[in-house]
Formats: sequence, C-alpha cells, structure tokens
Amino acid sequence: MKLKLAARKTESPGVESFIFKPQEPLVWKAGQFLHYVLNHSSTDDRGSDRWFTIASAPYERHVMITTRFDSKRSSTFKKTLKALKPGDTIEVSDLDGDFIVSDPKKEYIFIAGGIGVTPFRSILKQAEHEGKKLRVKLIYANRKTVAAYQKEFEAMARRNRNLKIHYLFSPQRIDKQTIKELVPDLKKPFFYVSGPEPMVEAIGKMLQQIGVPKRRIKQDWFPGYPAE
Ligand SMILES: Cc1cc2nc3c(=O)[nH]c(=O)nc-3n(C[C@H](O)[C@H](O)[C@H](O)COP(=O)(O)OP(=O)(O)OC[C@H]3O[C@@H](n4cnc5c(N)ncnc54)[C@H](O)[C@@H]3O)c2cc1C
Repeated sequence: MKLKLAARKTESPGVESFIFKPQEPLVWKAGQFLHYVLNHSSTDDRGSDRWFTIASAPYERHVMITTRFDSKRSSTFKKTLKALKPGDTIEVSDLDGDFIVSDPKKEYIFIAGGIGVTPFRSILKQAEHEGKKLRVKLIYANRKTVAAYQKEFEAMARRNRNLKIHYLFSPQRIDKQTIKELVPDLKKPFFYVSGPEPMVEAIGKMLQQIGVPKRRIKQDWFPGYPAE
C-alpha cells in the first residue's frame, strides 16, 4: 500500500514527524509498526527499507512516523525521508507488533529512551480518545531537555490524574535506584520498555535484577541507534 505525505512537523531539536494519508483504509492497534520502503539512488549499506512505529493513534486515521535525524551522519534512507515533499509517496506493508495494551484496567510503567517514546504516544492518545483513564507512569529519558510530544503528554496528564510523567534528562539515567524510587511495588505493574536496542536490552536485565518478574516486562527494540 502507498501512503501520501500530507504534512510534517518538528517535535523537538532533531526530531521530526511525517504525517501520511493512507491510499486505502488501514486498521491497526495503538503501538504497532509498519515496514516502509523508500527507493532511492546511491543507497548506503543500511538499504532502502525500515521499520517504524505508527506514532499516531488509530482514531487519528493518518500514519505518523516520528524519527530522529543524526546531526552529523544520516543514512541515505533518512536523507531521502527528510527530502520528501507533500504529495510524495512511501510504500508500506507488514503491519505487526504486540507492544499494545490489551487490558486497560492494569497498572503500567512505560519506560522510553528518546525516540522510543513513539508507541507510547499512540497508546496514550488512543486510550484517551476511548475515554479510558489508563493508570500509567511514563518514565521518559532524553538527552535534551526538550523532548518529543512533551506538550501533548502534559495536556493528557492534566486530563487524566492516573497518568504521571517523569522526565530524566541527560546526564540523569534510568538506573535501579530511580526505578525503585518511582515504583514502590515492583511486582504489581506491567513494564513496557521502548528505545534504542542496547538501552532496552540493558533495562530489561536491570528490571529482572531488582525483582520484576520477566512475564511482566514487554520490550520494543529500535535497532540502528546507539544507546542513549
Ligand atoms: C519495530 C520497530 C519500530 C521502530 N520504530 C521507530 C520509530 O518510531 N522511530 C525511529 O526513529 N526509529 C524506529 N525504529 C528504528 C528504525 O527502523 C531505524 O533503524 C532507526 O531510525 C535508525 O535509522 P537509520 O538506520 O536510517 O540511521 P540514522 O538515524 O540515519 O543514524 C543512526 C545512527 O547510525 C549512524 N549511521 C547512519 N548511517 C549509517 C551507516 N550507513 N552505517 C553505519 N552507521 C550509520 C549515524 O551516525 C547515527 O549515529 C524502529 C525499529 C523497529 C524494528
């Protein structure tokens, strides 16, 4: 299926969203991802396809990709994405992913490393749209003090007192101490961790070391980025 670029916006320094209109109806669950192909000349060794979370919520009806651009060296895929103009198309397929919230009554800890925040935007926006006041503590680690979707999250937290947001800006890090302080009962909530692959791997191990049962941890790995 093809998606047509409708708009783009800057979310935070170096982070941009691309809003596409599907050419056919597309049904997905908040937190899922798609496979995208952007054919371009002089393709580097990373190739012409990528996976991206659908950062928009299903009710929004458009597909939004939010991604980070490296200030020094972008892949040829990202350069091509950045150069897209309204009306240009991208090929998508293979909707997939189980990083979704199936029980809105449970308690959740969402842990985002930088751009790993994308599925959480989709999940939180959709839940709010459906009138579900999810019980979520979002722990959002970012290198810079201006982070993607900050205003949207804060607005949602004002409307839902069960939604708490804790930012950790560099050099603060997500470590055992921070988790123990923010989560008094480690055995109760479900932990969803999303971000660069090395970070998600490390946090998954760390959560188990401090006593979070493995079956309560869900991970969404973004390859291609170094640890935050
Ligand atoms: C299920 C899933 C969901 C995902 N969702 C998202 C999402 O919502 N948002 C998102 O941004 N990403 C997401 N990703 C990751 C995405 O697919 C890319 O891997 C990631 O954005 C990195 O993109 P890039 O390879 O174009 O590198 P870039 O972003 O251009 O660069 C990343 C780093 O790699 C270095 N680099 C760039 N090109 C090369 C090269 N040719 N060789 C060696 N090093 C290079 C850069 O210097 C930089 O440090 C997801 C991945 C998966 C599997």
